[in-house]
Amino acid sequence: MKLTTTALLVCATTATAIASSAVAEGELNLYSSRHYDTDERLYSDFTDMTGITINRIEANADELIARMQAEGANSPADILLTVDTSRLERAKEAGVLQAIESDVLETRIPSYLQDADNQWFGFSQRARIVFYDKTDVENPPMDYVSLADPAYEGMICHRSSTNVYSQTLLSAIIENFGTEAATEWAQGFVNNFARDPQGGDTDQLRGLVSGECDISISNTYYFARALRKDVDGLNADALENIGWIFPAQNAEGAHMNLSGGGVAANAPNRENAIKFMEYLASDRAQDYFSAGNDEYPAVPGVGLSPSVAAMGLFRPDAVDLSAVAKNVPEAQVIFNQVGWE
Ligand code: FE
Repeated sequence: MKLTTTALLVCATTATAIASSAVAEGELNLYSSRHYDTDERLYSDFTDMTGITINRIEANADELIARMQAEGANSPADILLTVDTSRLERAKEAGVLQAIESDVLETRIPSYLQDADNQWFGFSQRARIVFYDKTDVENPPMDYVSLADPAYEGMICHRSSTNVYSQTLLSAIIENFGTEAATEWAQGFVNNFARDPQGGDTDQLRGLVSGECDISISNTYYFARALRKDVDGLNADALENIGWIFPAQNAEGAHMNLSGGGVAANAPNRENAIKFMEYLASDRAQDYFSAGNDEYPAVPGVGLSPSVAAMGLFRPDAVDLSAVAKNVPEAQVIFNQVGWE
């Protein structure tokens, strides 16, 4: 049987395992939690180049990992694509990925953006940085530590602690400064909230425009996207008043989020899966992560799109991402302690 998109999606909703029928020459079954329409271009480009059709299941990362575990040896999944190292590590620990040998990936993806056991590889990055209302804030925080300074009381907007970006940010602070300092920091940070945590990263930027927030934290790609095209509530006039800081440039550097993927443990179309991973590391695909989704390419030397370049150069935090991912449970404890909802 040839596995079609429809067949795969039907199985997705009924959550039954697909037997060995998932093996289909010229096909690839992709489980993705990336939520960007622009990724469509990557998939169609890959199909045009290789003739391999991509069947997709999209859901949040935890659902996809649980699904792959439940499907076990019969899982049709060839690739898991997701955002954030903690989720990639969770997938690895859950046993749903496999190690692969690829000279292309080894040489193109910097070693700090790939799993030491070759179970996952990062393809793009984003920085989580400070944005502020230039008309209100004279001395914006220049590093993450300062976000807890009482000088910013009632000024800061951020997402909820259930969000993976919050979890990884605090996990990095734990890694860089230790648990005690991280707890103190989180308490100060929460004390400075202008409102209860809510919304996505674009909503934090909108809060600057509405005046609800003076300082907000967002990933770079949400802002760069607004520079590139119309985003509701963030027109050119509004963007004029928003300044940004790549934090901690004289210290640990700007906090980075990684998007990446790995080949599924029981991938029925393993060769196609490796081909797709190698495609994602190609200049062509890497360029698209920047041009299409305003991210930073993982492969060194690939140029930035104008909107991303407009945000300027910066020094990223080089902290070990796998070590950061291991701090997520500790971060959860701190969220509860300090009342970060
Ligand atoms: Fe996002």
